[in-house]
Amino acid sequence: MISREKLAKLNEREQQTFYARNPKSRAAFERADHLFGKVPMTWMNKKAGGFPIYLDRASGNRIWDIDGNEYIDFALGDTGAMAGHSAPAVVEAITHRVKDLGGLTTMLPTEDAEWVAKNLTERFGMAKWSFSLTATDANRWAIRLVRAITGKPKILFNAYCYHGSVDEALIVVGPDGEGMSRPGNVGSPVDVTQTSRVAEFNDLQGLERQLKNGDVAAVLMEPALTNIGIVLPEPGYLEGVRELTRKYDALLIIDETHTFSAGYGGMTMRDHLEPDVFVIGKAIAGGIPTGTYGLSAHLAEKILSRTDLDLVDMGGVGGTLAGNPLQVAAMRATLEKILTQENFKYMIDLATVFTDGVNELFEKYNLPWSINQLGARAEYRFAKPYPKTGTDAFHAADPELEDYLHVYLANRGIMLTPFHNMALMCPTTTLADVEKHHEVFEAAIKELVAG
Ligand code: PMP
Repeated sequence: MISREKLAKLNEREQQTFYARNPKSRAAFERADHLFGKVPMTWMNKKAGGFPIYLDRASGNRIWDIDGNEYIDFALGDTGAMAGHSAPAVVEAITHRVKDLGGLTTMLPTEDAEWVAKNLTERFGMAKWSFSLTATDANRWAIRLVRAITGKPKILFNAYCYHGSVDEALIVVGPDGEGMSRPGNVGSPVDVTQTSRVAEFNDLQGLERQLKNGDVAAVLMEPALTNIGIVLPEPGYLEGVRELTRKYDALLIIDETHTFSAGYGGMTMRDHLEPDVFVIGKAIAGGIPTGTYGLSAHLAEKILSRTDLDLVDMGGVGGTLAGNPLQVAAMRATLEKILTQENFKYMIDLATVFTDGVNELFEKYNLPWSINQLGARAEYRFAKPYPKTGTDAFHAADPELEDYLHVYLANRGIMLTPFHNMALMCPTTTLADVEKHHEVFEAAIKELVAG
């Protein structure tokens, strides 16, 4: 239905507009000779327009680039800024720590930490918490702990999951139904099938087949896949996972770094999930680096009773700056004042308006695309119905089309995250912002399908 020739022409035109709108960003990128890949972190080369937009400043759900362009930001740092950029309560808390109190990294606890842990318990139900600087690290440490405590060597993942740069997680289902290294896996220490097993999301039979091997310490999963579109669980799937993990004596680690968008207590609270270990990062410190894992009371006790495990020095769990006073002050302010029940309700209602509007446009223009909502976030995929496994969702990607929509929107002041067709609402996103998105999105579609 969509002419590829036309898409290529439109992409070319939008590319030219992007160049014309962003001369300063382009020049800065060209000058960046000392950065590996010309960017501060190699992912920033995932850029639809040929070079990244350089940030000047940001506030709430607005970003301004160094060429003076303003954007409504639906990317929100790919979730890290779900509380909005530089939310005043976070700025106040971290400024107080930096300017009035001092002590950014001391390896000493502050009293905010217990407040944060108690709040995390209220939301996610785990009894004991420990902090890291990224969700990646929280996952790595959780993996070490579950291997140590179960004595089993393998972790089971869903195909096309993402849990950070975690060696064990880079596994997909191969043509024979068994695990194989995820394409592009950089320098894996050993063949990933030695450390990991894999099943498709929403496939309980596949999961059981893998668990039957008896060597799985834990299943580590998102309760909805969010890094390959948003693949939602089918009715009964998450209950089935919990039953099977119990049946085969494997622990369940739930990573809600992204699915936290589902609400105040993530999907764990909303859908009454019962993880043994819980991981979250990104959004909960309002943009300051953070991560945390929570343990059930039983598991925490069991781990602490193992005197052979070195948890207080170089046993492989923990890090120098983790739990630092700045991070913990930022988490407290974000959880206490911003990512509240009330704000979640507002964000989720707005995401529903976003989702409904996009759906209407897909129908109006008869496009075989679909969108899934998970609380405050929504993401569309170029397939209908929406894929139910990571592998199917992977095959529903269309990079050329994605580039077109991303650059078209960026050229008209709307930012989506470069890795996704995802829109996330923060407490300062407005109905007018969502309507503006729909207006521009419709214009992009109209040009694409016009005869
Ligand atoms: N878990 C999930 C579910 C994620 O989506 C991500 C990042 N996209 C991570 C963990 C890792 O987060 P970070 O890059 O901050 O370590």
